[in-house]
Formats: sequence, structure tokens, C-alpha cells
Amino acid sequence: MSSISVAICGAGLSGLCLAHSLLRAGFNVQVYERDLAPHIRRQGYRITIDEYGIAALQRSLPPHLFKLFLATTSPIEEASYFRVTNKDLGEIFRLTFKGDPSGINLRTPRQIDRQTLRTIMLEGLQDRVHFGKEALRAETESDGATLHFSDGSYIHASLVVGADGVNSVLRKQFLPDYEPDDIDNWGIYGRTLLVQDEGLLVPRALKASGVFAMGPSNRGFFFTTMRFQEAPQTAFARFEVNQIPPITDDYVMWGLVLPKEQFPEYQEKLSSEMLQRVAQENIQNFHPILQRLVKRADVDYTMAVKFRAARKPTTWSVSRITFMGDAVHVMPPTGSHGGNTALRDAALLAEKLEAAMIQSESLEKAIGSYQEEMSKYAFREVEASKTMMKRFTVKNPLMRWAMLRAVPWIRSITNKPLTTE
Ligand SMILES: Cc1cc2nc3c(=O)[nH]c(=O)nc-3n(C[C@H](O)[C@H](O)[C@H](O)COP(=O)(O)OP(=O)(O)OC[C@H]3O[C@@H](n4cnc5c(N)ncnc54)[C@H](O)[C@@H]3O)c2cc1C
Repeated sequence: MSSISVAICGAGLSGLCLAHSLLRAGFNVQVYERDLAPHIRRQGYRITIDEYGIAALQRSLPPHLFKLFLATTSPIEEASYFRVTNKDLGEIFRLTFKGDPSGINLRTPRQIDRQTLRTIMLEGLQDRVHFGKEALRAETESDGATLHFSDGSYIHASLVVGADGVNSVLRKQFLPDYEPDDIDNWGIYGRTLLVQDEGLLVPRALKASGVFAMGPSNRGFFFTTMRFQEAPQTAFARFEVNQIPPITDDYVMWGLVLPKEQFPEYQEKLSSEMLQRVAQENIQNFHPILQRLVKRADVDYTMAVKFRAARKPTTWSVSRITFMGDAVHVMPPTGSHGGNTALRDAALLAEKLEAAMIQSESLEKAIGSYQEEMSKYAFREVEASKTMMKRFTVKNPLMRWAMLRAVPWIRSITNKPLTTE
């Protein structure tokens, strides 16, 4: 094992991905996580993993865990769709994505449940991930950095990596001028079991679609399904993984997007029950299928998300502490790039550190090169997701009338309704 020690702050997507890579390369790696246990917060949402995320996972995970990841993604259809509709599910436009049902083409994006992916990534790191360790601050020194925790303890490592998500305390300390901006929207997310009373809760035509329904007063409602290709319990057993799959049933992930003035700040602190009620009230005029999704939700999983967008650091000095993922480049969820970019960072940082170790080069050189390369692609994604969010929340009244009334009416003359079972 290398004498280089790496302390990762945060056992989220990027932290665990980096830990696997570095462990395989022989680094002494430890991960420190604030939560007391892996699934203490119900964050039951699905994420789309694109070619960058898939490549990062393939590079980092042991082969059997990468295969388990693939087995528990949603089945890939010949074609899938992203549909933008009005509140009555009248189609405005659709994007079509050609799929590869064989699953062989690893450039084809796929859907995975985030908690399931995190559980897969915890396998093999049991003695390396320390729960209940909330980092408060860090100090950098010439030979490394010291990370201090809320329980009074601290550790020293050659390198500290801040992978502590959107509210990163380490970013506040080391990049204080780059707190992310709030953007104009809030989201309330939830999940609802896909099959209830022995029937599908969404029409067949929409089973392989992401749908964004634009409503009045700049409100929008998004949903998509998470269907497991192989039942997680069967797949975990097949790959002899000792973790318990956190989710076993297919579900629909939904999200209500609200302008922030319609979502007073205090609502962020509301219980899941109250958030579900706020969501129900806000979609009263939407199609009954959409109302039903919220009404029949697993209330515990309802959560509020403030959409934020990072600002690119103009100066970012190189030290023995660096950052990955949402801690440094949070972005709105439009486009599904936040997690993928976080995984891409983990793979890139691992590559740079491994090269430094093999060539006996300085860690500073590796960190500087990582920060420079990462800033370029990550902040491109931040800008792209902000632009896409603006498109989905068009404010121009004439444009909204055309999109919400005229186009769906014209399309309804020629197209079969999406709600046909
Ligand atoms: C509803 C929703 C849907 C999304 N869909 C997609 C999608 O389809 N595709 C996509 O690419 N992205 C998606 N994202 C974004 C994606 O989830 C994030 O970008 C991704 O999780 C970021 O990974 P990360 O490793 O930076 O941080 P996280 O995964 O957030 O992990 C941060 C970890 O740090 C821990 N932590 C925080 N503070 C401390 C502390 N002080 N000390 C120790 N530990 C700490 C946290 O508990 C957490 O475990 C979605 C997000 C949401 C909310």
C-alpha cells in the first residue's frame, strides 16, 4: 500500500467512487460521512447515468460491482422519450432517444436508483467508511491536511477531498467567495410505487418516458419510472454482495417545480407529510394521472430541494485539499448531469493521483491538473443545466400560450392521446 493517505469527506456518489479507485490502486483511503448510517435519510430518487458516469463507474468499481450496477438499472428500450406536455398531458414536443436493448453499448444512458447505487458502492468499503463523522473544518499543511470532526476528533492525511455535497462546509472555508447562487425555482420530489392494486399507475405509453408537464403560474410537474431490470435482491445474491438492497419495487419518481416566490423559505423545513400536501395543492388543476401519483406517494420519501447553481472560481489555489461533485459545481437537475459530473470528477482525480504515484510526481501537480481540467467540463454543464431550466420555466406570456394551448391542440388532432392505456 502507498504511503499516500487520502481522507474523503462525504460518502455520496463521488466520494465512494473515488474511494474504490484509490483502494484498487493501493492508496490508504478513508471516507468520513456525517450520516449515522447509510440509509438514514430517505433519498429515494432515480438518477440517469450517462456515458461519463458509466465510464467512471467502470473504471473505479471492482468488475462484479460494475456488473451488479448494470443488472439493477432499468431495462433499455428500442426507443425512449422525453415529453414536454401541458398540464393535461397534451404533448408540446418530444425528444426521442434510440436505445440498445442488449445493454452492450456502454455509451447508452441508463436509470438507476440512487440509494441502490450507493449501496453497491458501499460493498468492499465496509472498514473504510466511517459513519457519524461530521467534518467541521480542515487545515492545510505542507505535507497534507487535517480534518476536524464535530465529536472533537481529527485525522491527518496527505490529501483531503471535499465530496460533502451542495452545503459543503469545506467549500465555505476554502472557497468562501463561491457560494452557489439560488435560482428561481424550488422542487418537491417524491416517489410512488409503480404497481398498485395490481395495475400500473402510469399509462403504458408513458412507461419509458420522462414527462415534464408545464402548468399555470410557471409550475411544472416531472415524472419518470424506475424499473429494475433484475430484482435487486436476486442480483445482489447472484453477485454475492453482502449488502441489503434498500429498494426492491419499481417506482415512479416525480417532482413538482415551483417558482421560489410560491414556496416560502420556511416550507423547506416542513415534514414529508406537509410537503406532500403542498405538492397536492399545487397540482390540483393537472391531469388526474398526475394528481394520483402525488396522492398515492410513499410519503416518507417526499423532500424539498432548493435549486442552486455554482459559480466558477476565478482563482483556485492548489493545496492539499481539493473538491469534487456538488461541493464545487452544484447545478439544477435539468439535463441530469450533477451526479454524472461528480462521478467523472472522481475518475479524473483518481487517474491524476495514480499517475503521480507511479511517476513519483508531486501531489500538487496532480491536484492542479485535476482542478484545471475539471473546472472546464463541470462549469460547462452548470451553464447548460441553467439554460435548460430557463427553457422549462418560460415566462413570456405569448410563448406560454403557444406552448400550453395552441401546440397541444394542433397535435391532438393528429396524435393519439398519451393517456390511452
Ligand atoms: C431529485 C434529484 C434527481 C437527480 N437526478 C439526477 C440525474 O438523473 N442524473 C445526475 O447525474 N444527477 C442527478 N441529481 C444530482 C445528483 O444526485 C448529485 O449531483 C450527486 O448526488 C452529487 O454527488 P456528490 O458526491 O457530489 O454529493 P452527494 O451524493 O450529495 O454526497 C454528499 C455526501 O456528503 C455527506 N456530507 C455532507 N456534509 C458533510 C460533512 N460536514 N461531513 C461529512 N459528510 C458530509 C452527505 O451526507 C452525503 O452523503 C439529482 C438530484 C436530485 C435531488
